[in-house]
Amino acid sequence: MECKNFEHLIPDFVGRKMDFRTLKEFCSHMEVCEECKEELVIQFLVTEGMQRLEDGDAFDLQNELQIRLNEAELSLRRHKKWRKLFICLGIMAILAVVGIVLWFVL
Ligand SMILES: [Zn+2]
Repeated sequence: MECKNFEHLIPDFVGRKMDFRTLKEFCSHMEVCEECKEELVIQFLVTEGMQRLEDGDAFDLQNELQIRLNEAELSLRRHKKWRKLFICLGIMAILAVVGIVLWFVL
């Protein structure tokens, strides 16, 4: 992912409107690019901060961003685990079909 794309996607991340593939690329870019990470922090603080001021809530945004990032990481990990499970189930289904076919043939 390019820095330009990353910046463009920040509002989607803040609004939790990102699909898994994009989220994965987004997070991997953030890990290697300090500038984009800073940009994300700034945009998050501004966007969420404005909202909170309007709502009049007390806030600890730095902490919330961390929570949001943890959430993203967790959901990515969960997604990966599900995908693995589906691949395993797929392989098992194929083996089952092969087994049934062999059972009929032999
Ligand atoms: Zn970057």
